[in-house]
Amino acid sequence: MARYLGAVCKLCRREGGKLYLKGERCFTEKCAVTRRPYPPGQHGQARIKLSEYGLRLREKQKMRRIYGLLEMQFAGYYVQATHLKGRTGEEMLGLIERRLDNVVLRIGFASSRAQGRQLVRHNHILVNGKRVNIPSFRVKPNDKIEIRDTSRKIGYIAAALTAADSRQRPSWIEVDKGNFAGTFKSMPVRDELNEPSVREQYVVEYYSR
Ligand code: SF4
Repeated sequence: MARYLGAVCKLCRREGGKLYLKGERCFTEKCAVTRRPYPPGQHGQARIKLSEYGLRLREKQKMRRIYGLLEMQFAGYYVQATHLKGRTGEEMLGLIERRLDNVVLRIGFASSRAQGRQLVRHNHILVNGKRVNIPSFRVKPNDKIEIRDTSRKIGYIAAALTAADSRQRPSWIEVDKGNFAGTFKSMPVRDELNEPSVREQYVVEYYSR
């Protein structure tokens, strides 16, 4: 599956807030949103009032960019969510949160989803003891995710785990740092998905217009 390869800080500036796409840099003074808190481009500092449609489009783009998905794949999650019992927006968030590249980030093996995706693609991740190299793989409750024995010496994984310790992990993630392992204990809880904040209802309204 293709992915976005352009400059990511521009995406945060366009969406008007940190989307945390660059790992540890996002938590430092070097963050582009801190240094230039206005949209990119020649007219970035002009005041533009968004239409109702524009608001929903921006929210959709923001959520899609947070999770590093291209349009087709993201829209596919919306379609799947409409077939589930709960609120479509929350179901959609839940489905995307269960992607393996995202869970790798939540455990703390990676400092960004892009890095999580790379760890998966490069065969460093085991799910319940089996190698899985598909970033969109859907994790289910009680799945055990670990770093392969031979990959545990990779420096940036240990660094990411240590950095993740200083931030709060979601309640559905349990980590066994010594064994480079984590468990996806239960389904994600909407109330804990507020950083960066997303208004999933706008995303639903965008697709159902
Ligand atoms: Fe760049 Fe991270 Fe700041 Fe976004 S949050 S602008 S990706 S440094």
